[in-house]
Amino acid sequence: MAGEFALIARHFTRPARRAALGVGDDCALLRVAPGHQLAVSSDMLVEGRHFLSTVAPERLGHKALAVNLSDLAACGAEPLAFTLALALPRVDDAWLAAFAQGLFALADAHDIELVGGDTTAGPLNICITVFGQVPTSASQQVPLHEWQVQQAKAQTQTQAQPQPQPQTQPQTQVQTPVQTQALLRSGAQPGDDLWVSGALGDARLALEVFRGNVALAGAAFEQVRRAMEQPQPQVALGLALRGVAHAAIDLSDGLLGDLGHVLQRSGVGAEVHVDALPRSAVLAAQPLRLQHECLLAGGDDYELLFTAAPARRADVAAAARHVGVAATRCGVITAAAGLRVVDTVGRTVATPWRGFDHFV
Ligand code: ADP
Ligand code: MG
Repeated sequence: MAGEFALIARHFTRPARRAALGVGDDCALLRVAPGHQLAVSSDMLVEGRHFLSTVAPERLGHKALAVNLSDLAACGAEPLAFTLALALPRVDDAWLAAFAQGLFALADAHDIELVGGDTTAGPLNICITVFGQVPTSASQQVPLHEWQVQQAKAQTQTQAQPQPQPQTQPQTQVQTPVQTQALLRSGAQPGDDLWVSGALGDARLALEVFRGNVALAGAAFEQVRRAMEQPQPQVALGLALRGVAHAAIDLSDGLLGDLGHVLQRSGVGAEVHVDALPRSAVLAAQPLRLQHECLLAGGDDYELLFTAAPARRADVAAAARHVGVAATRCGVITAAAGLRVVDTVGRTVATPWRGFDHFV
């Protein structure tokens, strides 16, 4: 059976690529590009709280990193490196190999590398810290996104009317003393459209299946289970929305709670159009009340919720198309405080659930 250091060497040591120094010394050393800030975020996964003991180790490795990458995505930060703090009840080489495989597959897909961590005996607990970089907003011009270049080319080719391209900077850079191009929770402005990426609610539906409250089988169950166990962080979308979105957050604790954070930090309110919220065919086949619960209070979605000026609709659509992700308009930011959920005909929809809070 491997000891602590053999375990680290066998499963978690790979040569550093972008970092100046990776696993093996007292600190890792990261390079950050000139004119950039380091974006840092941690998320811990505890067995029984954040995942079920039945989850396959590959999927757990994937999810532990995915939830952290999702935070970088929400800020529009480019992934650089991460650390892994691991408490293990025992050394199980087969389990560790599978966990590492899921972890590194996602890491490679996002060009982020493991540069250090800590390993100890204890109840299964996984804590990852991610490091990313994001440009400061210091006077230099914001470089064009690849999707903006392609959009411009397409417009010249088709001789179409050019879309309005307001050159105003996001409000975040005016409201806060932070000079950054990072997407923040604090930038939402009255009149902004509310957008969400992908589809919501499948992960919560899977949880209801595991709880025995919903019966699903076959491909439908596999789809929602995958959403719960293998979320895909929207890193490319976050990057493409820099300079376009006013505010962003990733959906980890349910739309109502997470949107509440944006509203509170931005000093605004919102109206959410529940019928517009994107959902899979599997969720759409469930009773409406359950759909609403999964969409609004589900959690574990890891999609991006963001706001942008109505003048930027074409830019949001182009950014989403460029990265191959759906973006759906699902509400509006209001000057009046408060969060109202309405249906297609404007009736208020009851929302008896609260955002997820570990201590309430
Ligand atoms: P220290 O004594 O400074 O706490 P350790 O002896 O715990 O360092 O770890 C030795 C090296 O292995 C360090 O570079 C540390 O970052 C790295 N490390 C420990 N655990 C992990 C892990 N789970 N994944 C990646 N690197 C790890
Ligand atoms: Mg240590």
